[in-house]
Amino acid sequence: MHAPQVQACVALGANLGDALGAVRQALRDLDNAALGRVLRVSSFYRTAPLEAHGPHFINAVALIQTQHSPLALLHALQALEHKAGRERPYTNAPRTLDLDLIFYGDCELSTPELTLPHPRWQARAFVLLPLSEVCPQRVSADMLACVAHQDIERLSIAPSCK
Ligand code: ADP
Ligand code: MG
Repeated sequence: MHAPQVQACVALGANLGDALGAVRQALRDLDNAALGRVLRVSSFYRTAPLEAHGPHFINAVALIQTQHSPLALLHALQALEHKAGRERPYTNAPRTLDLDLIFYGDCELSTPELTLPHPRWQARAFVLLPLSEVCPQRVSADMLACVAHQDIERLSIAPSCK
């Protein structure tokens, strides 16, 4: 018996070192038989840090299909962050790679380790804009209007996979 496949949305971000390279590598790593299959990738975006300092971010959102449970998927994402050299010296510190689980199907969860949907997804232009490309049914015009003041630029470079 195969575990059921679930569609999940992953937000990718980086603003330390080779941020573009780290996001591209993470997309390749997400498209991995053991973890899942990448179904869609948004454009890449360049965004100013929100509630944080440091260089601008590269952001994107991927729609993946996975057999992992929500927690196993979170741990797999954290392993990819670790591989990219992620350190957490303080809250909202600049990061080599951040992989947040935005949706896992329609799962709703509130545990100390994992909240689904991601608690701040609607407050962030760097989630909503790329998400509107890969899962337009999740994003309303009202949501986009609420983040319209945030500093974000869609880049014309092509995502490397899908
Ligand atoms: P940030 O909030 O800036 O992304 P971290 O990546 O360090 O910060 O994440 C902090 C904690 O958020 C993680 O230890 C993780 O357990 C928790 N967390 C809760 N819900 C989620 C989610 N949906 N996706 C990713 N991390 C989550
Ligand atoms: Mg995170």
